[in-house]
Amino acid sequence: MYRTHTCGELRITDKNKLITLAGWVQTIRKFGAITFVDLRDRYGITQLLFGESLNNLLDENPLGREFVLQATGTVSERSNKNPNIPTGEIEIIVSSFKVLNKSVVPPFTIQDDTDGGDDLRMKYRYLDLRRNIVKKNIELRYAVSRAARNYLHHQGFMDIETPFLIKSTPEGARDFVVPSRMNPGQFYALPQSPQTFKQLLMISGYDRYYQVVKCFRDEDLRADRQPEFTQIDCEMSFVEQEDILNTFEGMVKFIFKEVKGIEYTEKLERMSWEDAMRYYGNDKPDIRFGMKLTELKSNYSGEDRNIFKKEIEASGFKVFNDAELVGAISVPGCCDYTRKQTDELTEWVKRPQIGMAGLVFAKYHSDGSLKSSVDKFFDESTLKSLAEKCQAKPGDLILILAGKEERTRKALSELRLEMGERLGFRKPDEFKLLWVVDFPLFEFSEEDNRYVARHHPFTSPKPNEIHLLDDASQYGTIKANAYDMVLNGNEIGGGSIRIFQRDVQEKMFAALGMSKEEAQHKFGFLLGAFEYGAPPHGGIAFGFDRLCAILGGSESIRDFIAFPKNNAGRDVMLDAPSTIDDKQLEELQIRFNLK
Ligand code: ASP
Repeated sequence: MYRTHTCGELRITDKNKLITLAGWVQTIRKFGAITFVDLRDRYGITQLLFGESLNNLLDENPLGREFVLQATGTVSERSNKNPNIPTGEIEIIVSSFKVLNKSVVPPFTIQDDTDGGDDLRMKYRYLDLRRNIVKKNIELRYAVSRAARNYLHHQGFMDIETPFLIKSTPEGARDFVVPSRMNPGQFYALPQSPQTFKQLLMISGYDRYYQVVKCFRDEDLRADRQPEFTQIDCEMSFVEQEDILNTFEGMVKFIFKEVKGIEYTEKLERMSWEDAMRYYGNDKPDIRFGMKLTELKSNYSGEDRNIFKKEIEASGFKVFNDAELVGAISVPGCCDYTRKQTDELTEWVKRPQIGMAGLVFAKYHSDGSLKSSVDKFFDESTLKSLAEKCQAKPGDLILILAGKEERTRKALSELRLEMGERLGFRKPDEFKLLWVVDFPLFEFSEEDNRYVARHHPFTSPKPNEIHLLDDASQYGTIKANAYDMVLNGNEIGGGSIRIFQRDVQEKMFAALGMSKEEAQHKFGFLLGAFEYGAPPHGGIAFGFDRLCAILGGSESIRDFIAFPKNNAGRDVMLDAPSTIDDKQLEELQIRFNLK
């Protein structure tokens, strides 16, 4: 037997017990004839005391950091207690020990405040995973998955695996492809999600399916994306949108209770996509704080617009002239911003990522007076009415942006989040969930010059709008039975009620610019299946990595994945992707034509 207890287990109540521990040497401290060793395993750290009688043995078998050590001894009360760790009241008076394996000196210190940089820790991820803070994240991940599985199991969901080697049907993201040796010249694709399989399972009658499953998308890796990531993927039959929202609201509440001890009693807020865009400038609003957007131009009379026009010409804000949108936020308590601070904010909105031509601001002082960057052009009463429209309060700083609709909305949203961050309104330990519903079915892609599915091509229009699929001029107005769950400004889950009739699905493919032949070639299996009694169904998938990261109070999903890839999509530990042998290439009958 290697051990009788773990390194996190023993307490003062175990005093005088003869025990054996096994673990890794965290630190060695020698005081004259006495040596202290901190022994670590997954469960904690226990202090070992090697007395004088073991000195010779220690000299013969010198210990080093990360050695694997087995030690037998007696639990005894420490004279110098450490209240910071659960085993801090005891130590083990070692009577015998054995080095089970040696270790070379690790490339970084294996402790919370390590000296290892990101790259080094990723290269030696197996050592990084020994660190307590990384271990905590991996434990949290397991707790989330366990809670989700328990909940779904009790709701009658079945975990059913779906294949990873499938057919390439790129829509949205690019597929990762795998050459087939047995079918030269042909490729499998790795699934971007199990979407069509879970729908087929509904047709097969497995009316409640789930899977904690890997998905693969060959996208350019923007910040904090992984080419392979995990979803909690779910589908149900004989349900309406309401059933799905209730079931998965229940799941997320259960996860919160199990993992964070937070009880959500109230029903989650539901916000239409239109309201999310209007009041928050994006479809995943962070509702931990207010500071909603006010659309000034759309509310303004023609006369007011002329005032803006005057201002623009005079101050060089050319973009105000033909601004599609003029919008504002009122930032609480910031009316005392200095010139330096407002200049800095102006530079902030002018950065290419935000792309605004400038920033207009008005300080609403506590005495009720208003001072703005455009005082020359507005009298006090106009500014007052502006402040009123923005529902500003004395003490607020009103920030105004103008320009093209989409860009300005996005910029206002970013500015709101930035100010929220600066003012400490985005607390990582506060959690605000909501549903965003009533998404548009399509969005127009300038790049492809056609409508593309906003969610995916299997999403159903609102039942009373299905007929609009017959009229191309109406595509832009159709709303979908689609929904996203949003947590602290992040989309953590998204899904829809699906199309389940062949003719509607065919119309949908046609609306997306797919010919009958192409639709048949890519999705013939699904269209065929719809003819054999497809039940009404719908589902959702949660971004498991992201959910874990937010619950763990972190921005980075990488911290919650045991073996993640870096921003260039590389596994630096394995050094993958890599070239393969000529022999392998020959078997696959692949020859390169690298540019
Ligand atoms: N398969 C979808 C996705 O990956 C989610 C769903 O509609 O259930 O986004």
